[in-house]
Amino acid sequence: MSGINEQAAVMQGCLPFSCWSTVAPFFPTLRREQVRIVVQSRTVATYTYWIGMPAVTVYGDTNVCVPGVLDVSGFVRRNFWSWTDPRGIALWGHEIKHVEQWLANPAAFVWQAAWGITRSLLRGKVYDHSVIEYEREAIAFQRHVLETLMHRG
Ligand SMILES: [Zn+2]
Repeated sequence: MSGINEQAAVMQGCLPFSCWSTVAPFFPTLRREQVRIVVQSRTVATYTYWIGMPAVTVYGDTNVCVPGVLDVSGFVRRNFWSWTDPRGIALWGHEIKHVEQWLANPAAFVWQAAWGITRSLLRGKVYDHSVIEYEREAIAFQRHVLETLMHRG
């Protein structure tokens, strides 16, 4: 069963206004329509869960989400995704940052992915956020969003 945010995202191919408005202040140069949303089929989501993929994966300008994640009020796959909690908003900010990075320079993003995954493999991991340049930037940005929202009270 999908919630109201997911239904809107499926219809519009992007975040519903209520979700976008919570992250928009952090992305003054992005428009809502530039951040595409695709909800995985349940079959694919079951497989990606099995291989340990996160609840949201970004490919280019598209956030690919497991069913339900746009409407949860807590954790999915160890991460907190609520639109009403600073931790959840910060995490969506992290994912949307990847879209911004991609749109700014797709070639650089691909290069960083190739080099970062190579470095990850050399460290015995498939995907190590700490050695991938755009992930380090997105993690710092996520922290910035969280701190901003917390201090706003
Ligand atoms: Zn990331």
